[in-house]
Amino acid sequence: MGTWSYADWKPGGERVSFGDLTFDSMLHCGNAHDFVEVGEGHYRFRSRVHLAPYAWRFLFTVESPGDGREITLEVADFNHEGRTPWHESATVHSLDGNTWRPFDTGRLQIVEWTPTGHREIDEAYGDATHIPYGVRYRLRLDAPRIWFASPTPFTLQYRDRLLGELVRTHPGAVEVSVVARSAHSETTGYPVTMARIAAPGDCRERRRVFVIAGEHAAETAGMYACEGFLREVLANPTWLQGYAFFFVPVFNVDGVFFGRSYFNVSPRIIDGPGVNLSATWAERPAPEQRDLWSFLRWLRPELLVSLHNGRHRRAMDQFCDPGPETDAINEALRRHVGFALADAGPPRTPARLPREAMDRGVAQHGFLTETLLLCRLPGMHTFRDSYVELGRRFARGYVEGLDAI
Ligand SMILES: [Zn+2]
Repeated sequence: MGTWSYADWKPGGERVSFGDLTFDSMLHCGNAHDFVEVGEGHYRFRSRVHLAPYAWRFLFTVESPGDGREITLEVADFNHEGRTPWHESATVHSLDGNTWRPFDTGRLQIVEWTPTGHREIDEAYGDATHIPYGVRYRLRLDAPRIWFASPTPFTLQYRDRLLGELVRTHPGAVEVSVVARSAHSETTGYPVTMARIAAPGDCRERRRVFVIAGEHAAETAGMYACEGFLREVLANPTWLQGYAFFFVPVFNVDGVFFGRSYFNVSPRIIDGPGVNLSATWAERPAPEQRDLWSFLRWLRPELLVSLHNGRHRRAMDQFCDPGPETDAINEALRRHVGFALADAGPPRTPARLPREAMDRGVAQHGFLTETLLLCRLPGMHTFRDSYVELGRRFARGYVEGLDAI
């Protein structure tokens, strides 16, 4: 066992070769490090970023002659609930970094995790519901470059291309602005951006809907659902007579940039695990929270939706306050979404954004939705398409629900 320690982690990824194979996590928003060859055709890497308490995400490429040989790739250090092959269903691979195909779960296997040998750090990793484990993937190298990821990436370049394209194709309807800056926005070049879709005039004279995703960095199903919600609004211009919409597809920009799974990144990267942006809205210790909160206090949305995604769920948990208006909205959602929607009670403490916004009179209705990371709607060939379609259905359900109250 080497002497590599999580404390040695450096931002920016790694590019490592073993013979005619090269693993490269230096791509935009890439994450995987400490690649080692542990046996004939068997390579292992780590996904936990520095001393982050949680890890279940990676993104890198494998370069090879593309001669069709098979290798075993093993992630050493995931931690989450579940630990069955089904819980790894969101693993994907790609030949171009754009179209991500599901990885056959018959070709993966759950194994013991591999500690680093630095006992103090290893023993502090995980908790009762985040037990460390490894996953072994059998990968066929039938192309010179294969992108490998879990789950489907939603990178900041993807976000910027998406919003840029929508501004160009819907001139006058979509407006993109910087709504918040994180500790690293200046150095990475990626602030928190927001798309506003509204008819001309004062948006505060219309009913305002605010949708946020990506408080947790690896929760890309929620981010794609936010994209779908946005696309569906653009497909229904009559909605803009009564409503104005605001979308933040990726809130935790630093976490996404540096390959984290949940938390943001401290101002000095080496200082501790960062902030759980979703659970600290009462104190708002992070600059991106303070910026967004001041915007929300100005906007005062009627409806605030925070899109997450469960890493282990089979039904969508919907956290919301009880009441007839909530019931009307959830009933409308159930008519549209195609997945079971479980009323999971009020948004939990510690302070979630919908909870805090409702308690402070900033939003009238708040919902925190755990969309599904591991399930695809019938007929959907990729997870990305399914996540986006779900967002479209959310849009129709929420608008129908709001129309009814
Ligand atoms: Zn989350």
